Amino acid sequence: MSPAELHFLGTSDSKGVPRFWCGCAVCQEARTTAANRRTRSSALVRHGADTLLLDCGPDLHAQLARLDTPLIPSAVLISHAHNDHMLGLGDLLDYVGYAGGRLNIYAPEKVIPQLQERFTYAFRGNGFHRAAPVQPLPPQGLDVCGYTVRAFEVPHGANGTSHAFRFDSPTHRWVYMTDALDVPADIAACWLSNLHLLVLGASFYDESAAERKGRSVYDVLEALRLPWARAAGHVLLSHLSHDVDVRQPLPGEGFRYAREGLCVELG
Ligand SMILES: [Zn+2]
Ligand SMILES: [Zn+2]
Repeated sequence: MSPAELHFLGTSDSKGVPRFWCGCAVCQEARTTAANRRTRSSALVRHGADTLLLDCGPDLHAQLARLDTPLIPSAVLISHAHNDHMLGLGDLLDYVGYAGGRLNIYAPEKVIPQLQERFTYAFRGNGFHRAAPVQPLPPQGLDVCGYTVRAFEVPHGANGTSHAFRFDSPTHRWVYMTDALDVPADIAACWLSNLHLLVLGASFYDESAAERKGRSVYDVLEALRLPWARAAGHVLLSHLSHDVDVRQPLPGEGFRYAREGLCVELG
């Protein structure tokens, strides 16, 4: 079987591009020629008939509707309970309910009560929805799309904590980490080493003028300097706000901007 593929459904920060009311050059471009038009961060891993959805933000309905074929993911992983990563959960449950299929949705254990609080009706076990619509991701990981996938907690600056996902197969290793800032060296050594690919969130191009305690995600210039990102060899920057123009060259060998709809072969 051919290698798995990573398909970027959405590559924006929490606010989308263009932002409401914003007249900046990137937002204007996003409204017209649209190289920078971005929906909230989400991705699909596909391997044959096996598919894994990473996060389900508020743009999920449109993201799934524009796929060539209807899809019931083999599994869904939710990284953390912020709107831009989980607000599409209601749509997702309906989507699979209409398709008559059972869906395995996983989140790190500490995230589940926060999802339950936001989607109370879905956790009552009536209608389309099962009694436990979201299951804890087992610590030993989940085997899907030819990989074992495990979650690890990362600091998310002023926004608390988030989780990233590490994918290991016998021949290929990569990480999907969209919402992190100041990852400690011990976590990086354990989870971000020996990678073939890193998907890394970098919301702004240069936030050095902002107070660090108010920030929540790396910026592009920091990402280019992170030793574990440089060691990964191939880095795709995602979770990009209107401060980033993907038409501009990225000054770092092995670094690229992820774009809406981009597909990369894994392994
Ligand atoms: Zn986010
Ligand atoms: Zn703007």
